[in-house]
Amino acid sequence: MSEGGGTKVAFYDSKPYDRKFFGAAVEGLDMEIEYHDFRLEAANSTSAEGCAAVCVFVNDKVDRACMEALSGKGVKLVALRCAGFNNVDLDAAKELEITVLRVPAYSPHAVAEHAVALLLTLNRKIHRAYNRVRELNFSLGGLVGFDLYGKTVGIMGTGKIGRCAAPIFRGFGCEVLAYDPFPQEEWARKNGVVYTGVHKLLATSDVVSLHMPLTEETFHVLNKESISKMKHGAYLLNTSRGKLVESKAVIAALKSGQLGGVALDVYEEEEGVFFEDHSDTALQDDVLSRLLTFPNVLVTSHQAFLTQEALGAIAETTVDSITRFVKGEGIDEARIVV
Ligand code: NAD
Repeated sequence: MSEGGGTKVAFYDSKPYDRKFFGAAVEGLDMEIEYHDFRLEAANSTSAEGCAAVCVFVNDKVDRACMEALSGKGVKLVALRCAGFNNVDLDAAKELEITVLRVPAYSPHAVAEHAVALLLTLNRKIHRAYNRVRELNFSLGGLVGFDLYGKTVGIMGTGKIGRCAAPIFRGFGCEVLAYDPFPQEEWARKNGVVYTGVHKLLATSDVVSLHMPLTEETFHVLNKESISKMKHGAYLLNTSRGKLVESKAVIAALKSGQLGGVALDVYEEEEGVFFEDHSDTALQDDVLSRLLTFPNVLVTSHQAFLTQEALGAIAETTVDSITRFVKGEGIDEARIVV
């Protein structure tokens, strides 16, 4: 509780856009948010003193030591402002009776649209043209792309985001193939999408877009062997999780021409690099450095979710969950982690 009796929440790894959308979401509520720029970990957990809840993001380190420290400070709730919870020790949370909540869905459209934006940019060389024209170089050499119309796009994972991406590609006149262990046949029929096996999808798609979660099974699902089964010169889009793709295999495939283009919004070793400004320091990651040298590679810094709509939905849902938790009201099952 805050001095005024309202709910006090310690908010970590905060960025200006978080403050804007969470500021709007708590307006008129008896909730006080203390924003911290640093990430939460055991060593700095005294910053949660007197707070009923902590609000964390994908890179805060809520391990057992941190959970124990939070418990000692009387914190009863860890509110994740994202869907994933791989950075939270759930066993420790259960033992210490700390509730963990998340935002299961915010805007699948934001991520699907970003995947398409990456493809259009990469294929039509907009990133290169933008820089070239600003240097008053109006030449067209090296800027040849291909029509999306009539091409085959393979969607791996037809959950919330994959099901938003597929109709966008259909709108371009693409054939859309899909693979998912739990196919949604009726949705596919209505949207002109054809489910197929992974092998056929990889062998026939001009563009492969990943929309499945990271699990033990999907770790490095795109590796040396599976990439060799792809159509020669195909494009690969990953807006899902970095560890789905073996980066070193991607580099080899780009060098040989097996992959014609690669767009990544996520990277397997992104922690500690993405979301931060490293422009004054030497990049220590040689694999990422090599990836960034290819003209046919486009990397964005895990920004696919970054739309006004998604940020608004994340803030509204998180603040609603905290309010419900404090009042002891029912919370949507999908938001409850433990
Ligand atoms: P979802 O849970 O709605 O859908 C995931 C789908 O993948 C499910 O249909 C599931 O059956 C399927 N799947 C599971 N294993 C598979 C496999 N081996 N091959 C093919 N499909 C498989 O999830 P979602 O909301 O669509 O999100 C998908 C992923 O996008 C998330 O797991 C997350 O990693 C990522 N994501 C990224 C951002 C970003 O900003 N870049 C934002 C949100 C989510």
